[in-house]
Amino acid sequence: MMQIYRPLNQIGFVYREIRQGLADIEAMFHLLDQQPEIADAPDAKALDLTGPVLAFEDVHFHYDADRPILKGVSFTVPAGKTIAVVGPSGAGKSTLSRLIYRFYDAISGRVTIDGQDVRAVTQPSLRAAIGMVPQDTVLFNDTIAYNIRYGRPDATDEEVAEAARMAQIGEFIDGLPQGYDTQVGERGLKLSGGEKQRVAIARTILKAPPILILDEATSALDTQTEREIQSALDTVSRGRTTLVIAHRLSTVVDADEIIVLRDGVIAERGRHAELLAADGLYAQMWNRQREAAEASERLRAAEDDP
Ligand code: ADP
Ligand code: MG
Repeated sequence: MMQIYRPLNQIGFVYREIRQGLADIEAMFHLLDQQPEIADAPDAKALDLTGPVLAFEDVHFHYDADRPILKGVSFTVPAGKTIAVVGPSGAGKSTLSRLIYRFYDAISGRVTIDGQDVRAVTQPSLRAAIGMVPQDTVLFNDTIAYNIRYGRPDATDEEVAEAARMAQIGEFIDGLPQGYDTQVGERGLKLSGGEKQRVAIARTILKAPPILILDEATSALDTQTEREIQSALDTVSRGRTTLVIAHRLSTVVDADEIIVLRDGVIAERGRHAELLAADGLYAQMWNRQREAAEASERLRAAEDDP
């Protein structure tokens, strides 16, 4: 009996491993919004990183040929600097991040890192260099610890907990009966959008990559939590080449340059004060958001003091 049981048990083990593997791959594809047709060039080399400058050079892109999304976008994120991209929804902001990570390739023009076309380097070396907090995080069907440690598999438990603390999710995890061993995802604990976002931020803090892409990374959080996480994000982005895609303009006032994208072209660019002085689209967006913030502030004050 043992003789049969053992191999069967082995098969069970292998089967579970494969299933977990498939679940991971599935989650990865979701997570990366991966396009299977993106392949390494036959002569692809590992990305060579010294001072990671990220550049868009006259990039054109469409998902469907009859609807251009990016119409000649050029900008540079100098090594260690933070560039913000803002603009109306649908402008093509998230598309920029997808081209850097190679979920899609530019139709013409190029995206380069340290002068190397992202299409000419191996995808593992590219993705190892980049930490991305996407707009919608999909977690692996695994434990919270696994989901955070994914950023750096050799991290210790202490490092995982420290990253969670910095991402303002540590206390929440400590309060769960199974703590870091809590299963999350479809068959586990369902986390809110803001909690998932904080897990993704913890993962990225742990990974501490040379290049950081934050796509509305704090959009699912309330203002207070956003403020707290913002300081953690400021800490990781210090000295790292960072592209911030932002909805709330208050989070990008300190950026080295702000790029206003509208309908796939750069409508305005400059520092916060310059853009306000220019009194264009950015100034309009800024005033609208400030009025909304003041209105909600007044509402809160009225509730507190009826
Ligand atoms: P933003 O992040 O500025 O809101 P996106 O870059 O996500 O805008 O999208 C730009 C435009 O491309 C939008 O109109 C969106 O509907 C469209 N789009 C995004 N992803 C796809 C896709 N996979 N297929 C077709 N159209 C898409
Ligand atoms: Mg977007």
